[in-house]
Amino acid sequence: MEQNQDRLKEIISHAKEYGFVFPSSEIYDGLAATYDYGQLGSELKNNIKTYWWKSMVQMHDNIVGIDAAIFMHPTTWKASGHVDAFNDPLIDNKDSKKRYRADVLLEEHIEKIRQKIYKEVEKARNRFGTEFDEAQFVATNPNVLRNQEKIESIEARMKSALESNDLEGVRQLIIDLEIVCPISGSKNWTEVRQFNLMFSTELGSVAGDAATIYLRPETAQGIFVNFLNVQKSGRLKIPFGIAQIGKAFRNEIVARQFIFRMREFEQMEMQFFVRPGQEMEWYDYWKEARIKWHKNLGLGDTMYRYHDHLKLAHYANAASDIEFNFPMGFKELEGIHSRTDFDLKQHENFSGKKLQFFDPELNQSYIPYVIETSVGLDRLFLAVLSASLKNEVLEDGSERTVLSIPAVLAPYKAAILPLIKKDGLPEKAREIHKALQLEFNVQYDEKDAIGRRYRRQDSIGTPFSITVDHETLENNTVTIRNRDTMLQQRVDVVELVNIISKEASWKSILEKL
Ligand code: ATP
Repeated sequence: MEQNQDRLKEIISHAKEYGFVFPSSEIYDGLAATYDYGQLGSELKNNIKTYWWKSMVQMHDNIVGIDAAIFMHPTTWKASGHVDAFNDPLIDNKDSKKRYRADVLLEEHIEKIRQKIYKEVEKARNRFGTEFDEAQFVATNPNVLRNQEKIESIEARMKSALESNDLEGVRQLIIDLEIVCPISGSKNWTEVRQFNLMFSTELGSVAGDAATIYLRPETAQGIFVNFLNVQKSGRLKIPFGIAQIGKAFRNEIVARQFIFRMREFEQMEMQFFVRPGQEMEWYDYWKEARIKWHKNLGLGDTMYRYHDHLKLAHYANAASDIEFNFPMGFKELEGIHSRTDFDLKQHENFSGKKLQFFDPELNQSYIPYVIETSVGLDRLFLAVLSASLKNEVLEDGSERTVLSIPAVLAPYKAAILPLIKKDGLPEKAREIHKALQLEFNVQYDEKDAIGRRYRRQDSIGTPFSITVDHETLENNTVTIRNRDTMLQQRVDVVELVNIISKEASWKSILEKL
């Protein structure tokens, strides 16, 4: 735990030092759970968005993208169920006065038991070596079985209490499991209460209730209310998807984990409309497709796992998270939800407008079913940073910090560095910089000794450093240094675009999907 906190602190301070993420309005001591993306952070964020938009929207004939307003008619949130049911159960510890999400306390308790199982399995793997049969071990080892049963019994109680809104039952479970407050170490808990996560504000000068509007807590509803507009204007046939990237706002109860849980954040969501009855096929399809999309970034296949939901949101009939191994452990990165026809049906009821699709093959109109894929842009940003930030000890015993971000996401694809600041080298370097700028985001840097400049580029994740030296003036060649291997190669300037493209172009990652 301690170690994980240190690791998170290291990431936060690196992100600040190099202009990726700053605490919002820091000169006023910041605003809780709100962050600003700096000059490199916004480049990285834009690149993540581009990867998503290109692969989800532009590479699918049947998916289109929109950009809906953050403010929506207030009835939207009545219809969607958010006014009545977008709640988190909260609980306070009377000694530390700290507030927690009751469901998260339980999830974390379960995760601790899961870690015990994992350790038991790893111990056995080391003992038995290549002979080890994990499936058999898990099915027969008494310790594993006992812990597995424990998890199942906690999960069953938790599901039943949460689903029936039995808040006393949730509290009792916390007490029965002897869960303590991580700060005070005490079991002195308050009642569990429901807390609505939506931010509200006033619209113009209209009097009365209708003037209260909400900041959207998810981007999805902007897609649902536009379902027919998009379908008709785009002549789309089911199955088809509507995608959107945009801000969402939630008054989170506990927000202590940097950009993992913010009160203002960004989502990349896609709602896929299908024939009723075919939703499970598409649910499986998108679960698979989305994890593949994440793994394609190359952060490591073992960094991801699925977590199927026990308690389903009010709109869903199946839901699974793709979890990422953050410094705080495995946590939700993306949600894949089978939302049934809940939202469109509700909007039909509340608006009195038909939201149906006429299916020419079936010669029938129906309200489509929906599979949603919803990934938090900021969480993906944190995943990329945390998996990429490394401190390495080199062969000569010196150390370096390197941010081995996937090349396509790197803020700068290359840095162009004149070896020294005279003899015409800066002029030549600027010429190369100008030409490469037409293809990629590249940086020119002539400050400090060359070694220090390489280190700085390593720290901000630039995959290539191109050095212009005296030989460049004679034969138009430069050295190109690879961030990860630190190897340098002498190449002709005309080859640079090709070399960089091979690793850092959109084509290079999209063709692997
Ligand atoms: P959690 O259980 O962590 O609160 P959630 O299940 O409420 O998340 P969803 O409603 O499924 O989240 O939202 C979809 C995605 O939006 C999440 O997978 C996550 O990546 C992102 N997200 C949700 N809440 C936040 C937040 N407060 N800050 C940053 N990203 C968020």
